[in-house]
Amino acid sequence: MKLPFTCPQCDQENRENGNFIPSIEQRDVIITNQITYEYTCSKGHQCFCVLQIERFEMLYKLAIHEFLENNFRACVINCAAALERFYEFFLQVVFHHYGYSSETFYEEIWLPIKDRSKRQEDLFKDTFIELTSIEKPPVLKDTHRKFRNHIVHQGEFPKKEQTRDFADTIFRIIGFGLYTLYKYCDSSLQGSTNSKDLREILVKIIMDVLDDNSINILFPLVIQICDELNSSQEVNHKK
Ligand SMILES: [Zn+2]
Repeated sequence: MKLPFTCPQCDQENRENGNFIPSIEQRDVIITNQITYEYTCSKGHQCFCVLQIERFEMLYKLAIHEFLENNFRACVINCAAALERFYEFFLQVVFHHYGYSSETFYEEIWLPIKDRSKRQEDLFKDTFIELTSIEKPPVLKDTHRKFRNHIVHQGEFPKKEQTRDFADTIFRIIGFGLYTLYKYCDSSLQGSTNSKDLREILVKIIMDVLDDNSINILFPLVIQICDELNSSQEVNHKK
C-alpha cells in the first residue's frame, strides 16, 4: 500500500536552500504489525520512520485502497476490523479521561474482553452513553451486521454499491466517535494516542482517496466533519 513519507535529509537540504516545504513522497510499503518502516527517497537517501498512525486508521486506509482496486471483499473485511480497533481506541481515550493509565486500561479493562468482539461493542455502547448521555451510540445496524457476517464468515463476495454503503457507514461511525472524543475528552485524545490532532486523523484516513483522484467516496463527509470541528473550535475560542 502507498503511504506518505518525508525524507529528513532532503528536508535539511531544502531548508538550507530556503525551501521550508516538507518533502512528501508516496512509497509502496508492505504493511506489518511494526510501526517502523525503512525506505529510500527519490534522491537515494536511506530513511527510517515511525508511523504516527492508529491501527484503525491503517485498516481503514487499507479498506479504501482495496475499494479503489475493486477488491470489495477485502474492503469489507478491513472496514469491519477498523471498526473493532476503533472501539478499542475510543475506550482507551475515554478511560484515560477517567484517569486510567494506558497500562491499567489494558490490564483491567481490555484484557478480559480482548478476544470477545461482542463484549467490546457492549462496553463501547455503555461507555458512549455514560460519557455523552446520548442514548443512541453509533454502532452497526442489524442489516449491516448481517451483511458483514455473510462476507467475513461465509466467504461471500459483495457488490460495489453494498461495499460503498458499508464503508460509508463505518466511516460515519468512526467520524462521529472521533467527534465525540474531541468534544468530551479532548485533552485525553491529545495525551493518550499516537495522533497529534483529530483533524490530522481525518485527513490521513482520506489521503489514499485523494491521492488516487477518486474523491467522490467519503470525501464530502470528511469536509462536513472538519467543518463541524472548525465551528466547535471557534465556539471554544469565543468562550
Ligand atoms: Zn531524500
